[in-house]
Amino acid sequence: MSSTGQVNCHLIVNSKSGLNRLILDQSWVEFVRQLEYKQLWKGGDLVKVDPKYTSQKCNKCSHTAKENRKTQSKFKCVKCGHSENADINATKNILEAGLTSLARRDI
Ligand SMILES: [Zn+2]
Repeated sequence: MSSTGQVNCHLIVNSKSGLNRLILDQSWVEFVRQLEYKQLWKGGDLVKVDPKYTSQKCNKCSHTAKENRKTQSKFKCVKCGHSENADINATKNILEAGLTSLARRDI
């Protein structure tokens, strides 16, 4: 393959990853729009939570570190030793953030 062909191939890959990111972003926008619609229709509260660091934060002691995440599925806090499935630990952090946000609304 010529150097021009390699450049064109690289541009296509970059364009495709940008398109994939755009599609993923639009999927989340549509997902949130559907949740808001259903919430209005059925009633209840929709609480949006910033997921930043929820997978690195210990649900027991709140210590947040990249090293707490041993693998994709294993969470072990380097401070208190709490160990749990990483998705369950993150889910508890998201639930706690949502409940905190709801409590602030009521004040
Ligand atoms: Zn901990």
